[in-house]
Amino acid sequence: MVIGVALNFASEISGLTDPPKTPVLFLKPENTETGHLSPVPHPEGVPAIQPGPSVAVVIARRARRVDRSEAFDYVKGYTLFNDFSLKETSTFRPPVRTKCFDAFGPIGSVVVSRDALKNPHDVTVRCRVNGEVRQEGTTRDLVWKIPELVESITSFMTLEEDDTIAIGVPPGRVDVVAGDVVTVEADGLGSLTSHVVTEREYRDSGAFPSPRQRTFLALGLNYADHASELEFQAPEEPLLFLKAPGSVTADTQVSCRPDGVEMMHFEGELVVVIGKTASRVKRAEAMDYVSGYTIANDYAVRDYLENYYRPNLRVKSRDGLTPLGPRIVEKDDVADPHALEIRTYVNRELRQQGNTRDMVFDIPFLLEYVTSFMTLRPSDMISTGTPKGFSNVVPGDEVVVEIDGLGRLSNRIVSENEWRSLDG
Ligand code: CA
Repeated sequence: MVIGVALNFASEISGLTDPPKTPVLFLKPENTETGHLSPVPHPEGVPAIQPGPSVAVVIARRARRVDRSEAFDYVKGYTLFNDFSLKETSTFRPPVRTKCFDAFGPIGSVVVSRDALKNPHDVTVRCRVNGEVRQEGTTRDLVWKIPELVESITSFMTLEEDDTIAIGVPPGRVDVVAGDVVTVEADGLGSLTSHVVTEREYRDSGAFPSPRQRTFLALGLNYADHASELEFQAPEEPLLFLKAPGSVTADTQVSCRPDGVEMMHFEGELVVVIGKTASRVKRAEAMDYVSGYTIANDYAVRDYLENYYRPNLRVKSRDGLTPLGPRIVEKDDVADPHALEIRTYVNRELRQQGNTRDMVFDIPFLLEYVTSFMTLRPSDMISTGTPKGFSNVVPGDEVVVEIDGLGRLSNRIVSENEWRSLDG
């Protein structure tokens, strides 16, 4: 897993009226992973793509709740990363459509050990296009340095060995097109070269990222009644975000409400499970790629939400915060996934009720949309959003999400203390 950090250069945020209060984190899922000298597709219909040179920190071992003073104990070393992206049209949208095309995340194969790099906060990182330096920055200018990033991320999310943090792309991204050769380099870290090719050339090259883990996508504001309840317009394009693998927990388990927060709420949701590799799927055939359905409770810690259109990982990707289950029901056993009642109970009291017919973007639309830029693989999942009705939950609450034909997903909220005593 690669975690990217956006807006992490001082010069980039100095002009913002509302600068981020915590690191702006995003995920690059497995379909984006590729290596040195590999092709990167320039998608059809897009004028250009933009490289994103970054130093990347490779984690040495399981890291949770790491204090910044000990952060480097958890660092195995450093490598290079190239956060390819479409040009961002908004700094508010979670960047899935822009950043998660197949092969949009070249990563160096050589990890320079922690002790071999004198000072990771004094490294100049450059991006060359066809040999010429086009973008450059120094890690001296990072807003959040490595110890703060490790502390911040592991305060809510467990990192495992070889997880990687791309610590920031300097301002001044440049446009590249098919035919260009892009190289990321940094003193002491070598170089990482990508060949930008047309989408057709990419497909014909047979290059394909190897899946390591499930990709779990989720939808924000996908029910008009829920959007209006928050006094928001329903979005015109799906508001997609990604959830880290460790955020999922099973039926009948517990989820942690952080101490001192004002609002943590449940979100009962229908989850679509992918059955076969899906790329550029058309609406008419979309349901052929579904193998089944299950239930998620996509809890959110509202206090950590700085912006509805840019839900930070801290809100939605916390360890164990997303109960999933109780089982996957086969597609053929669900007559119409767009006519299912969703009910959420807290301590047996009905608190949320909706119907999947009210989704803004239905399942075929979502599959066509997502697979237009990223390949989905068997067992990948899309959680389709929550209807109206949310309310605060506190330690001790028993929360059950029920969907017609899919069963009941139950979970208990615990305090931070109880959570820590349970998970060691
Ligand atoms: Ca949700």
